[in-house]
Amino acid sequence: MARKKLIAGNWKMNGLLADGIDLAKNVAGGVKAMGKPQCEFLVCPPFTLLTSVKKALRGAKVALGAQDCHMAEKGAHTGDISPLMLKDLGCSYVILGHSERRADHGETDAIVADKAVAAHKAGLKTVICIGETLEQREAGKAVEICRNQILGSVPADSTAVDTVIAYEPVWAIGTGKVPTTQDVEEVHLAVRKVLAQKLGKSTAGKMRILYGGSVKPSNAKELLSLPDVDGALIGGASLKAEDFLAIAKNSEC
Ligand code: PEP
Repeated sequence: MARKKLIAGNWKMNGLLADGIDLAKNVAGGVKAMGKPQCEFLVCPPFTLLTSVKKALRGAKVALGAQDCHMAEKGAHTGDISPLMLKDLGCSYVILGHSERRADHGETDAIVADKAVAAHKAGLKTVICIGETLEQREAGKAVEICRNQILGSVPADSTAVDTVIAYEPVWAIGTGKVPTTQDVEEVHLAVRKVLAQKLGKSTAGKMRILYGGSVKPSNAKELLSLPDVDGALIGGASLKAEDFLAIAKNSEC
């Protein structure tokens, strides 16, 4: 089953207006220069940059995404942003359940699932993040944790079109540490197996599972050539257009 690789940048809480526009223009220019890339591209800037980045990406095949949304369509939720608002701004994706949101904002699997249902209803695709902590990995529980997060965070009617999974070991995010390729492949295979149990074999076979955690141009080829790795969710290295594009090029995009 051919799954088109997704190269996704999570800019996190980085970038003032001028930097964000500059970065987006450089990414757009690089993707245009690739002609007909084999991969799909996505950038997820902070909320404040969405409109400007959308404009800067004009004419380039780079999708726009947000890093979170609320589960309600509208209402009394001070400081929150609804999926419909994101759709209205031109987003086609939203990242949900990133480990930083799970840790900093107490997001549970049930909250992530509710947000995913709302995002799908608004016509957004979701990148649902899962991943174990170092303590959980050292206790031999990485697969179990990821299985449970999939069971709890992915809505039962998710499809391979509206949902992408990102496996991001918490201890690999922003640390320069990367699991072995065997460990990545073990988790990705287990994730696809639990997706098959939950959503059916056909959907699971088509659903993209990204790897995230210290992906760089130098390790992209090794990680992204694994059979069950369908792209990357990139934090730090997505803040430099050159590195973001090099990751794609090294992954035969
Ligand atoms: C992330 O936070 O989604 C991430 C993968 O970060 P980094 O690439 O910096 O490890």
